[in-house]
Amino acid sequence: MSSEFFFQSITQLAAALEGKTLSSIELTRAVVARTKAVEGRVHAFNSVDEPDALAQAAESDARRAAGQARGPLDGIPIGLKDVIAVAGQPLTASSKMLANFVSPYDATVTAKLKNAGAVLWGRLNCDEFAMGSSTENSAFGPTHNPWDLTRVPGGSSGGSAAALAAGEVLAALGSDTGGSIRQPAALCGVVGLKPTYGLVSRYGLIAFASSLDQIGPFARTVEDAAIVLGAIAGHDERDSTSFKTEIPDYRAELKKRTGPWRLGIPKEYFADGLDPEIGAAVEQAIAFYKKLGCEIKEVSLPHTRYCLDTYYVIATAEASSNLARYDGIRYGHRSKNATDIVDLYFQSRAEGFGAEVKRRIILGTYVLSSGYYDAYYLRAQKVRTLIRNDFLAAFREVDALITPTSPMPAFKIGEKADPLALYLCDIYTIGVNLAGLPGINVPCGFTKSGLPIGAQIIGQPFRESELLAVAQAYEQAHDWKTKMPSL
Ligand code: GLN
Repeated sequence: MSSEFFFQSITQLAAALEGKTLSSIELTRAVVARTKAVEGRVHAFNSVDEPDALAQAAESDARRAAGQARGPLDGIPIGLKDVIAVAGQPLTASSKMLANFVSPYDATVTAKLKNAGAVLWGRLNCDEFAMGSSTENSAFGPTHNPWDLTRVPGGSSGGSAAALAAGEVLAALGSDTGGSIRQPAALCGVVGLKPTYGLVSRYGLIAFASSLDQIGPFARTVEDAAIVLGAIAGHDERDSTSFKTEIPDYRAELKKRTGPWRLGIPKEYFADGLDPEIGAAVEQAIAFYKKLGCEIKEVSLPHTRYCLDTYYVIATAEASSNLARYDGIRYGHRSKNATDIVDLYFQSRAEGFGAEVKRRIILGTYVLSSGYYDAYYLRAQKVRTLIRNDFLAAFREVDALITPTSPMPAFKIGEKADPLALYLCDIYTIGVNLAGLPGINVPCGFTKSGLPIGAQIIGQPFRESELLAVAQAYEQAHDWKTKMPSL
């Protein structure tokens, strides 16, 4: 890894902070300077607050000087996707609808990171309301992939992935409804973890599709991801879907779990449409595990071909309901051109939402409307159960599954104008959300033209420790993480 602060791992930096060879102020200043140097080209952030970040860093240094440092995240600059509430800071969901909204409170994950001493640095760009796979749907303009600035970083958490790859943060949080952490992590060459549904509180996350949304970490290494996950996971009374479960010390668990594992290769995930260079890189990762002594077994997830359709019924239905609250009355954009109250709703929503968000609201309203509810929504819920059962059946035979994360490497900005072409980006990731499982992207190589490739490892519910260990076994035997984009 580069000797520059902003390309080191949290583990390395935490050791330097602890050894007092580095202060949080120095580190935060380096990250701020790096952000200023590259942000004009990357555009990963929607907003930053330099005085606030430096004040947080100064507090961290003061705590440490007083012998009250709070663990590995104390003093480390971390960025949050701009759908996660930070009290007193803008919260836009990359939408014109919320362009001037300031959050009155902290999300649970925000409060937890603050408790861990992290320096919260900026709100990161994303697709509007997290709907998309390229960050091109942001009302504030696209984020550029640090490995090739003419290309997308993936999405919807593209700002989180790009900021990390570019050295503008040391870790980031994103949200993943159908792949929005894992796919941008793959396209930007970083680790991205979507936890089991219910492991991380969604309180203070702007809702897209509530039965699918999960917050999770982006990090340079698997160990860093384990550290951030440990800080944000856990039951929360403010999120009724958050699960009461013991949160292990994920970092300590990594050392205890050494395999070998039984790994499943779902044959439906290596079908037509997979970029051959990605297919070859993932095959090599599988070969690595075989050499490690793992049992490799082909498995079948027969309902895979229904994943996309099922997702776009359920996700749009929930989105249409969740986004009903943006009415121009309580908060958000309010039209100045309205003639009466009904017109105010219409005009505010017409002006505030972008094209993709409107498309989803219309689709979702349609599938929920009377007469169509049974034909679409209810049926999709039933198929969802079949999809989950496929995974659970596979997990009777194997400990984890390995697949590509994305069928294609980063594509050119503007290349995919057709919404359906973009929906296909999530073909390997959405099944995991429909089934509520944890999944992680691990960098596993580069294309000939120098674009990152990622492998996805899918684990069993609430077995993040094992999932992380499987990922780390690969990571430690390869040096992909030492490569940085030349910006
Ligand atoms: N790309 C998918 C969508 O547009 C997933 C987005 C996400 O995970 N937030 O819905």
